[in-house]
Amino acid sequence: MKFKVDQELCIGCGACEGVCPEVFEMRDDDKAYVIKDPVPAELEDNALESEESCPVEAICHE
Ligand code: SF4
Repeated sequence: MKFKVDQELCIGCGACEGVCPEVFEMRDDDKAYVIKDPVPAELEDNALESEESCPVEAICHE
């Protein structure tokens, strides 16, 4: 499964990293980035939780 963060939408709240730091990382620009691509099967549920936790729906997956 592949996840993407739309940095244009991201407001830098940090929720995704809080839920799944193995996949999402906050950087100096206060935006979240995906650091595992593709996301390994064992982290998919956790990454989906991050997607749901995003208040501006900046995360999507395929
Ligand atoms: S949860 Fe959404 S808005 Fe918050 S840091 Fe992650 S991608 Fe950005």
